[in-house]
Order: sequence, then C-alpha cells, then structure tokens
Amino acid sequence: MIIHIDMDAFFASIEQVINPRLKGRPLIVGSRAHKMRTVVCAASYEAKALGIHSGMPSEDAFGICPNLEFVAADQAKYIWTSEQIFELLKGWGFVLNYASIDEFQMDILEHPEPLKLVAQIQEQIYANFNITASVGIAKNWLLAKLASKINKPNSVTLINEANFKDILSATPLTKACGMAGKTGQVLMAQGLKTCWDLYLNLPGFFAENPGKFEDIPEKSKSIGHSYTLPRAQTNPRFISAWIRVLSEMVGERLRQKNLVAKTIQLWLNIPEKGDFLAQKTFAIAANDSYEIYLRTLKIMTGMAQKRPKIRALGVTASHLSPQEYLPLLIEEKRREALVKAIDKINCRFGDNSIFPAQVILTRK
Ligand SMILES: [Mg+2]
Repeated sequence: MIIHIDMDAFFASIEQVINPRLKGRPLIVGSRAHKMRTVVCAASYEAKALGIHSGMPSEDAFGICPNLEFVAADQAKYIWTSEQIFELLKGWGFVLNYASIDEFQMDILEHPEPLKLVAQIQEQIYANFNITASVGIAKNWLLAKLASKINKPNSVTLINEANFKDILSATPLTKACGMAGKTGQVLMAQGLKTCWDLYLNLPGFFAENPGKFEDIPEKSKSIGHSYTLPRAQTNPRFISAWIRVLSEMVGERLRQKNLVAKTIQLWLNIPEKGDFLAQKTFAIAANDSYEIYLRTLKIMTGMAQKRPKIRALGVTASHLSPQEYLPLLIEEKRREALVKAIDKINCRFGDNSIFPAQVILTRK
C-alpha cells in the first residue's frame, strides 16, 4: 500500500510559521521579488478562499485582494524544510521517495492500520513543523496521489476496491496527475469528464504501472508510456504534441525514480502498415522531459515516414542508470528544486507551463 503525503500550501504555510503576523492572513508567495510583476507560486488557504491560485499573475491577485500579504519565494528555505520532513518521515522505516519538493511517497506494505498510521504521521509533521499535510492511501502511487488531493487541506482519503468507483466518479478528470491543463481539456473535449471516465477509457492510467495510456512493460528495465488516439491522425503537429505529453510522463517517472536514460525508443502504430519501432542511444543520459521529447522527434524524423497515419504511439526510455548527481551546492539544489517544482506544477496545475502552444494544437 502506498501513502502519498502532500503538504498543504507548502511555501505559504512555511512563511506563515516563520512570520506569525502572516498567520490567518491571505498571503501569496511570488516567484520574483517585485510583488506586482510576478506570478503566484503559492497561495495560503486564506488567499485560496478568495479565488487566488498558483499560476495567477500577482497583479490579478492584488486586484482581488489589495491587502494581500506578499513574500518573495525563498527556495533554500523550502528545500531545507522539505529535507527536514523527509528525514522525519524516514524514521518510520518504510521505503520513502520524493515526488516533488512538498510531496512524499511511502510504501507502507501491508500495514494493518493505515488510517491510524497516517494520523500519527500527520500529528508528527504538525508537532514538528506546525504545518499540515493531506494524505492519500491507495494500492499504487498514482491513485494515492489522486486521493491526497480530493479533500485538501489536512485530510486523509483512502481509495480501496470498495469505494474506487464512487470516488473516481465523483472526482473531476482534471484532478488526475497531468490532467489539470490542456491534456485534460483534450480528453474532456472527447467526452471524458470524471476520473471514472478516464479509467473506463484508459484503464491503464490508474493501474499499478500506468500506461490507452499503457505502461510499456518494464521488461528490460525501461520506462514507457503509449497512447491510442481515438482515430488515426496524420497532422504532424498533433502527433508531436502527443509525443510531448508522453515524453513528459516518461521524464517525470524517471525523475521520480532518480533514473536517467541513454536510449529512447519510439513506437508507432500505422494501421495500413503495421508497427514501427526505432530507437537511438545517446552519449549523454537524460531525464529531462524536453530533452526526451527532442530525442524522440529526432528518431521520428529518421523513420522517414511521410505524414504517416498514426493510430497509436509510445515513448520508452531504457538503458537506465541511477542519477548519480548529488546536488551539493545551493545553486545546484535550487536548480533541482526548480525541476521538482515544474513537476509539481505540472501535476497540480496542468501542462500550460510546460507545453503551452503545442498542446493547444492538439485540439484542432
Ligand atoms: Mg502540496
């Protein structure tokens, strides 16, 4: 069993603990110091209640609430707190992974009383840091992550066989990881409204190994995702947008597992011609989604199919090795935190920030 621990309004909550004057106040944390010329990267629950949310220009936020409190983001502070929480959670003795700067995943195996355990973890976090976390419990990380987001803040949500259909039916598709933005909109335009619709149409999405999005079997230690289009498509921009989506998913999972990949493989199903598979091994291993996308496009160009009519496609990374890079310097930590923050933004707020123009093209 997996538990997904997601800190509530993490950056804003930390600022409110450090400066008690901000406690109970609508507060935004801006990505840059100029309070009128930045973007909200975190909003306190008091600000959220007014309709202020992450990703919003700060000017708009001040338009809603002129008395808004403002703090410029201080990554070092958040990373430090995140590391302290990680250390604390490690004490439980279960396998623990970072999902992002403020999200942690713990494999609690067949723990007999998961709800009791989670209550203890939440109490421990609050006792040590004065901030709250929402926790999801489920059989795999994707469902656990979804569960953690359903009743925020300071919540516990368990998804099991008995309530799986009810919970997914009551949860909008846009709550699922990676579905908050344009990808979700593409699927909603195809008539998928809830997570249950997503499950019925793409059963692999919530499966143990997500992937239809299907998980391409991890036979030889690879990580891959594929997608079957509702109908065959020739538009190269549409195809490359889906390659981008799949590259994002592959990159995110590589980073989650702290892996880098040297080999990228592209699989295309062309109804009239069959399956095409091509791969390329690169000198430098990568787990950056954009790099994976560029490499996949390179492979696609090499396949020399002229406007193929594609029904399904897949991107797989293999030749995996641990990411040995240990960020020691503050600057390097900040860079890593940035990538983690991008992952977080992607999962929570959608894909706008990552592939703005491109995915809009898929809607044509
Ligand atoms: Mg959070």
